Parts: sequence; structure tokens; C-alpha cells
Amino acid sequence: MTEDTVLSRETIARLTLNTEPWLSCDACFEQVDVALEALFGSSVPPVAELRAHLRGCATCHEEAQSLAALVADQYDMAASVAVARLDIAITTAGA
Ligand SMILES: [Zn+2]
Repeated sequence: MTEDTVLSRETIARLTLNTEPWLSCDACFEQVDVALEALFGSSVPPVAELRAHLRGCATCHEEAQSLAALVADQYDMAASVAVARLDIAITTAGA
């Protein structure tokens, strides 16, 4: 390899992050809408598997953020507030 691959600090952090307990992207996708409902509807944080997956998987994290923004209306929240609540829940709850 002659070219250097530049990894951002964030990418490195994601790649080296402990993503246990493990969850597949498919399982994450199946659970995320119910998890958002529980979080926004009754302040129940996502289960550990889901939190770990969303911290470590950029694709699912982005999808979850989009979904949070989409359902925000149903809970009388601004989209940005819903996304922030999701991020706070996956980074702090039970950690
Ligand atoms: Zn994923």
C-alpha cells in the first residue's frame, strides 16, 4: 500500500469501541422503532445490546437518528430534541 488511509478520530473510536453485548444490524433494525417508542413514550432507555450497537455502528446510528426525527412529532418534540434524547440515551443510560 503506497497511499495512506486517513481515519478520523471518530472512525478510529468507533472501530476500537467495545460493542459487547453484540447485536446484528438486522436485529437492531427490528428493535429500534420499539426502543424509540419506549424511550420517547415512557423514558425507558434502550437495552444494552441496542445501545452498544448504535454506539458502534454508524449506519444503524444514522438510521435511528432519522427515525427519531421522523417520530418526534408524535411526542410533541422537535426533531433535533428527539435525536439529542436518543444520543443521550445510548451514550449514558446504564453505562
Ligand atoms: Zn448496525
